[in-house]
Amino acid sequence: MKTVALVACGGSGKRAHLGYNKVLHISGGISILEHTLSKFSCPCVIVFNEQDDKDTINKIAKKYNALTTLGGSTRTQSVKNGLELIKNSYPDCEVVLIHDGARPYLSPDLIQKIAKEAYLHGSAIPYTICSDSVKQKTESGYINIDRASLMYIQTPQGFLFDKIYKAYSNATDSFTDDSAVYEQLYGDCHMVEGEVQNTKITTPYDIKYWERFVMTDTRVGNGYDYHRFDAGRKLILGGVEIPFEKGLLGHSDADAATHCLMDAMLSAAGLKDIGTYFPDNDNKYKGANSIELLKQVSEILLEQGYRLSNASIVIVAQYPKLAPFVDQMKANLASATGLTPDRIGISATTNEGSGAIGRGEGIAATAVCLLVKTSKDML
Ligand code: MG
Repeated sequence: MKTVALVACGGSGKRAHLGYNKVLHISGGISILEHTLSKFSCPCVIVFNEQDDKDTINKIAKKYNALTTLGGSTRTQSVKNGLELIKNSYPDCEVVLIHDGARPYLSPDLIQKIAKEAYLHGSAIPYTICSDSVKQKTESGYINIDRASLMYIQTPQGFLFDKIYKAYSNATDSFTDDSAVYEQLYGDCHMVEGEVQNTKITTPYDIKYWERFVMTDTRVGNGYDYHRFDAGRKLILGGVEIPFEKGLLGHSDADAATHCLMDAMLSAAGLKDIGTYFPDNDNKYKGANSIELLKQVSEILLEQGYRLSNASIVIVAQYPKLAPFVDQMKANLASATGLTPDRIGISATTNEGSGAIGRGEGIAATAVCLLVKTSKDML
């Protein structure tokens, strides 16, 4: 069956005390929305807010081959907009899964189960049982409610596309739940057991809990590199060409700062060093742009289920002065690894005139980095 996911990303982050849409909150180098999208193997449509950072949303959408559309002033209008985009872009869509972008803990198994049950029954709504005692406040006092009759309702909620499209077309009230829209037209939904861990990130506590969850499986790595100066070479560090009378000698562009970062990343993942991946006797890498090699290392790590969280680099050079170039180096390394520049630290120091570095014979660099296991392996 042809399935499309509609990922609703409403919310301003007010309840989470963030000041921006919580689905764009980054932890371990990746946003909550990306974690959510990574669970779906079907095409996704992201419905976002007018005030959201469009560049960020578009970058995420591109990475996950998702389409995007603006939401409306209510959740009902936002879902309507998403369904309209699906109707136009995926005319063969049979089942739609409507999901909250702020529920990243769900498993691919639940997604498959909901899609299958929705195809068979017209709708499939995940629920969990209520384990807390519940009271209802009334004008005359509190009433104790029998919790055995209560259910917590989750997403993704699955529906035959034509049915939910019609239900939303007829909906005039504002609803916060898709099953309620469906029930107005067709009666009871088909209920399916959900997952206890499939909670929605809403409060500051939820954000803290999520950050801990993401950071539970981390790996540290370190790397070191040294290249000798040679006349007639360009001096390249962190992907920046630095004006100087000589450059570093090497088979590639001899970018020691980028090389030690690559080695730190590979080492953290328990992989072999850059010499193994990019041999210095292979002509393919003669004069290679090390930033391009760093991109390849990021891809190798992703395939292994790792993502760079942050890195800290020290460049040891007696000369030239590197401070004016540090911001551009950070930007280059961040861009190649899919991070924001604040996650790359670079400091430059001299060797106080002693040793080979102090005599200006070459430049050394060391890096420490932290990798995070990506979400696919976490549940
Ligand atoms: Mg090197």
